Amino acid sequence: MYRSHTCGDLTTAQISEEVTLSGWVQGIRDKGFMIYIDLRDRYGITQLYFDAENTPKNILEKAQSLGREFVIQVKGTVVERASKNPNIPTGAIEILVTALTVLNKALVPPFTIEDKTDGGEDIRMKYRYLDIRRNPVKNNLMFRHKVTMEVRKFLSDQGFIEVETPYLIKSTPEGARDFVVPSRMNEGQFYALPQSPQTFKQLLMVGGMDKYFQIVKCFRDEDLRADRQPEFTQIDCEMAFVEQEDILTVFENLTKHLLKEIKGISVDAFPRMTYDDAMRTYGNDKPDIRFGMAFGELNSLAQHKDFGIFNEAELVVGIAVPNGAAYTRKEIDALVDWVRRPQVGAKGMVYARYNEDGTFKSSVDKFYNQDDLANWAKATNAKPGDLICVLSGETNKTRTQLSALRMELATRLGLRDPEVFAPLWVVDFPLLELDEETGHYHAMHHPFTSPKPGQLELLDTDPGAVKANAYDLVLNGNEIGGGSIRIHDKEMQATMFKHLGFSPEEAKAQFGFLMDAFQYGAPPHGGLAFGLDRLVAILGGQETIRDFIAFPKNNSGRDVMIDAPAFIDDAQLKELHLKLALKA
Ligand code: ASP
Repeated sequence: MYRSHTCGDLTTAQISEEVTLSGWVQGIRDKGFMIYIDLRDRYGITQLYFDAENTPKNILEKAQSLGREFVIQVKGTVVERASKNPNIPTGAIEILVTALTVLNKALVPPFTIEDKTDGGEDIRMKYRYLDIRRNPVKNNLMFRHKVTMEVRKFLSDQGFIEVETPYLIKSTPEGARDFVVPSRMNEGQFYALPQSPQTFKQLLMVGGMDKYFQIVKCFRDEDLRADRQPEFTQIDCEMAFVEQEDILTVFENLTKHLLKEIKGISVDAFPRMTYDDAMRTYGNDKPDIRFGMAFGELNSLAQHKDFGIFNEAELVVGIAVPNGAAYTRKEIDALVDWVRRPQVGAKGMVYARYNEDGTFKSSVDKFYNQDDLANWAKATNAKPGDLICVLSGETNKTRTQLSALRMELATRLGLRDPEVFAPLWVVDFPLLELDEETGHYHAMHHPFTSPKPGQLELLDTDPGAVKANAYDLVLNGNEIGGGSIRIHDKEMQATMFKHLGFSPEEAKAQFGFLMDAFQYGAPPHGGLAFGLDRLVAILGGQETIRDFIAFPKNNSGRDVMIDAPAFIDDAQLKELHLKLALKA
């Protein structure tokens, strides 16, 4: 028996008991005649005690020869500590060791395995298994487990069945590139790894499963942005015989359940906002509504004066920065520089201080009088003491820029409190999105999303205006889930593919299986998927999803621990019928 207790178990309740513990040597304090060792496992730390008087000499010597992270087993007696540590559950006791076995030696670890480590990100990624021994990482993995258990419990209680779908499939388009896997047995052919189980979950509905979920890996070969993972986890869900309202209700309840069970927070009914309103009011389809600073459109108030920049702009839009009137000229100049950085891309920024005495002082006083500026204040909901920041230009770009400024200022002002949770639904997404580069429309969500009833006709005349039965769940400025009511009719699906630029042959080759299935009694259905990694990170009050993944990839999509991706040898290439071996 390796252990009678874990390193987190023992308290004064076990005083005088003989116990056996196993774990890692976290630290050794050798005072010559007395040695203290912190023994660590997943459950905690227990202090081991050796001294010249009570410990046999050979054991004392063995203890002296231990190094950090050695794996040891000890037997001994639980005794009360002279100086107690109130910060840990085992802090009132220590083990007077009577036997010590080294189960495995350890090299000196490349960084300290403590809550605050001296190891940088790269080295900790390379030795991730050591990083996992540290509380911050270990606790995150345990937290993730707790969240997934709550998800499973809730959905299972609601009658959902977890069904696994295959990983070796044909492309499921979610707007990214596929990772592909060459087939050895079918020369020249490839599987694709699923970007999501989308088509399979729809087939499960055709199969009558009615309520499906799966906590599932998805794979998307995208250019990596900060904190994106090429493989990530979804809570993927689908229901039959439902309308949008049914889905929103179930998954609002799931989210509430998680907030309650995990964070102890009760939230009211989630607000709903149309996509158009979200864009107009926050410049963003995933608005952070923990704070205000809503956009005020100023076109009618700011145009037709003599200020050419505004007159030429498609959109003139501003926000009120709480207490910003007190910013110095230098601070405001720095803000202007910030919006002009290439990452944001604004040409400039107009501002107006709304002084405490009710007067205004703006960067465009030459063109606008106090009454004009008072109207700006009304439109942006500014209060005396605020600073009104105004951007102008092409509508979409300007909204994006002002949204970036809004988020930046909110962060600086401490308005994005990770312990405050402000969920909302964004609904009525456009069905199609224009690809500026190719001039073609593609599905904003995916090609299986149904248009809103009665809007099909618009597809021919004004495709960009067609709204979809699609919705996103947004939490604190992050899209944590998204889904739609699906097309379940073969003809409609064929029409959709046509509008997306598929020839009938292409549509049949890629998605014939789905359209065939629709001919055999497909029920109306819909669903959504949550991004589990991000959800867990937000609930955990942290920003980076990598911290909640046991073995994440770095920003270039590499696993630096196992060193993947990697070249494969010629024999393997040949077997896979791959001729191209671009070895470095
Ligand atoms: N498959 C979709 C996605 O991955 C979610 C859904 O429509 O249910 O975003």
